[in-house]
Amino acid sequence: MSLGEFELIKKYFTDIGPVQRAALGVGDDCALLDVPAGRQLALSVDTLIADVHFPAAADPALIAQKALRSNLSDLAAAGAEPLAFTLALSLPTADPDWLAAFAQGLRSCADEFAIALIGGDTTRARQTVITVQVFGLVPQGQALLRSGAAAGDGIYVSGTLGAARAALDVLDVPALQLSADQRFWLKRYFMPRPRMTLGVALRGIASAAIDISDGFAADLGHILDSSGVGALVDAAQLPLPDALGAHADALDFALFGGDDYELCFTVPPAREEIVARFAAQLQVPLARVGTITTDKTLRLRRADGSESPLTHGGYRHF
Ligand code: ADP
Ligand code: MG
Repeated sequence: MSLGEFELIKKYFTDIGPVQRAALGVGDDCALLDVPAGRQLALSVDTLIADVHFPAAADPALIAQKALRSNLSDLAAAGAEPLAFTLALSLPTADPDWLAAFAQGLRSCADEFAIALIGGDTTRARQTVITVQVFGLVPQGQALLRSGAAAGDGIYVSGTLGAARAALDVLDVPALQLSADQRFWLKRYFMPRPRMTLGVALRGIASAAIDISDGFAADLGHILDSSGVGALVDAAQLPLPDALGAHADALDFALFGGDDYELCFTVPPAREEIVARFAAQLQVPLARVGTITTDKTLRLRRADGSESPLTHGGYRHF
């Protein structure tokens, strides 16, 4: 049985996340959000296209998780706290099984991060396209920006890098044939961990921050460009997951692979001690991977002591 557009919205998308936090949610021409005095609304939008950003045949619950988590990561990188999101969904068919699984994945993620679905758009198209826009709150003037890194600042990375890139090579492997390492890579790819508490803790501490969506070198490159500085990165300090230990391309994946959604941030020397202290409290592993330099290039020091420029790279649609 096929569902009409409005039945579909009502059935799957009207009650996801803590909707009472919105002044007005799904069902009217506009949703309404209250922005408390002294706070700024932080917003970000990202589109996921079938067979570009996720395999069309993947578990719809995981596709939903990836769509919302990758957007939450942008809020984390700004030091903002999640408030609400919208969902623009284009689908070739209104398949009830797909929609139920997708809505369940979305609900589970929205509950975990206390973010409410307040509106969206539902359309038919030849391929699945998912656009999520997130809204968060940040105290006036305290958002973390890409600009602000200065020579001498330490460069930090949360969690580990490279596993999501490794997953790209096993997306088509049948579940029963996956090794434990490969399952871990896929978990990182579909269920990244947006670093919300870290982002908030870095307000007033980090001089610049970004989330790693396109690859460490590319995203650190954005901080360098915005801040007008360079960096020397120590390859030996890059945090590789145990599950990539035996992989020949581990370092390349950590440097250039996307989709990890960890935070990369810089900290002035006088505040590095504070970061070391709260890293333990927050239970987020942090690695100090290099130092900001005045020389405007990004350089990599390899394990053998050699140093060479690192091109930013990163996935580009155009
Ligand atoms: P309009 O024609 O006024 O733009 P729509 O018919 O597109 O409104 O949507 C009706 C209501 O359902 C709106 O409140 C809209 O925000 C909401 N909505 C539509 N699609 C979705 C979706 N995929 N998820 C959540 N809310 C949705
Ligand atoms: Mg309208």
